[in-house]
Amino acid sequence: MRTAGFGAHGLVDGGPEIVRENPARHGEVVGTLVTTTADGVARVIEGADEASGEWAETSLEDRVGLLRQGARAVADSADELAPLLARELGKPVADSAGEMGFAAAFLTWVCDRVGDVCADRVVDDDAGRVVLQRVPFGVISAIVPWNAPLILSSLKVAPALATGNVIVVKPSPLAPFAVTEALRRIAEHLPPGVLSVVHGEAEVGGAMVTDPRVRKVAFTGGATVAHHVLAGCAEQLTPAVLELGGNDAAVVLDDLTFTDEVMERMVFGALLTSGQVCMAAKRIYVPQVRLDEFVERFVAAADRVLVCGDPLDPTVTIGPVVNEAAARRIEGLLDDARTSGGGSGGARVVPLGRTTADWDRGDGWFVRPTLVTGASAESSIVRDEQFGPTVPVLGYRDLDDAVRQANATESGLGSSVWSDDTERAFRVGRRLEAGMTFINCHNRAGMSLRVPFGGVKRSGFGREFGDEGIVEFTQTHALHLPGAIRDAAGTAPKGNAYPT
Ligand code: NAD
Repeated sequence: MRTAGFGAHGLVDGGPEIVRENPARHGEVVGTLVTTTADGVARVIEGADEASGEWAETSLEDRVGLLRQGARAVADSADELAPLLARELGKPVADSAGEMGFAAAFLTWVCDRVGDVCADRVVDDDAGRVVLQRVPFGVISAIVPWNAPLILSSLKVAPALATGNVIVVKPSPLAPFAVTEALRRIAEHLPPGVLSVVHGEAEVGGAMVTDPRVRKVAFTGGATVAHHVLAGCAEQLTPAVLELGGNDAAVVLDDLTFTDEVMERMVFGALLTSGQVCMAAKRIYVPQVRLDEFVERFVAAADRVLVCGDPLDPTVTIGPVVNEAAARRIEGLLDDARTSGGGSGGARVVPLGRTTADWDRGDGWFVRPTLVTGASAESSIVRDEQFGPTVPVLGYRDLDDAVRQANATESGLGSSVWSDDTERAFRVGRRLEAGMTFINCHNRAGMSLRVPFGGVKRSGFGREFGDEGIVEFTQTHALHLPGAIRDAAGTAPKGNAYPT
């Protein structure tokens, strides 16, 4: 297949072509991506800018009506696009179908909520009357990574468009095909220029950020690129929402019963999509005295539920990692852990799950899921986001030690606490530095459309999901009648010399 971006005036191409191979089958070409030139990006943004005024003035009811049609089109495309997403990304096919399901559900949820969330607020008291309106920014540039292209695009597209903005999306060249097709199917229901897609790498992303017609940037990705994005935003004083990586700690309390169900949930909390999820559990802290028992139960659970193989096989739950660079990076982390283990002469790397014949042929970027025991707190596998199918398990002495170790990171995306005593888990959870703390679950199993998602510390700023994720794409516009500088009882500040 051949895929290019599109804008108000149709397809945009002309840039260098990128061939994407199936990470599960060396040499199998999934498609060719035709990237967008810098001029092409400028033309797409111009088209978006031209469409912006009319879309903002379209009634909320009409906007929502068109977006609901787009949501249905995405839901209907799941069977067709899931195998494509599985082949370009390596994500198991059922999980891939879930992306289309999520995108459709989120679009619908935003359509249901936007009227209430963005309704005018009238402040009417003895101090006077102010009407607070929520208005769109205009052109939004959205830059998304490869690991969940549909989900992460929909988190920007749905609230941006429902609130009256127009949007230009740049997917990652590592998983561009299914998301472009899904977005095209939404765009078919919208006026030209309201939803556009461009393709490319740093140059295209940079052009999307520095264009003066862009009024807000929504970026999801890693910290290295985020530095460039923010520097670009600084040029035009363009605001941004940044959703960045995490190094989530899962804290297992000493009372937890290691049931099959709990352990299987923890396995997927860490290793879903081969661990290539921003809010996966990336470090597991367990009371020192229960470490051996934990490892035994975790390995047994993983052997039950992790089937490693070709993502097109519906029984497979772990596919390859996204490309060779990712495979090499993760192998490097494991080598580093083996040689720099904490005091006991190197960490132990324990293989997890069962492999299929496809996997055993080794004809793809397959990295066996692993649990790492005995890693040093200083090793990269503990300090850095591994973003792969491996997770270190570390011992702690007491709760203060567990909280200290869990918080000893610059990241603050998610975290979790596991206990038979929910109230106790909530108390410990309150001490964790993170945007989200899941109780007895982690990762997708704990997600909710209704509440804000986003990190603290260096995991970014701004929020997606929930009412806050809708508000993120609006600005306030206050319309005042005279007399606003008074308190709620109508009293003017002393010394006010002006007639009010
Ligand atoms: P990345 O930062 O390498 O790339 C993200 C996007 O930025 C891609 O579309 C890429 O092409 C583009 N890009 C590259 N250089 C650019 C530049 N100079 N200017 C503008 N755009 C540029 O991230 P990745 O490897 O695609 O994704 C993995 C990272 O994303 C991980 O750190 C993961 O935790 C994070 N992530 C975060 C969330 C979240 O919601 N917090 C969700 C998913 C992934």
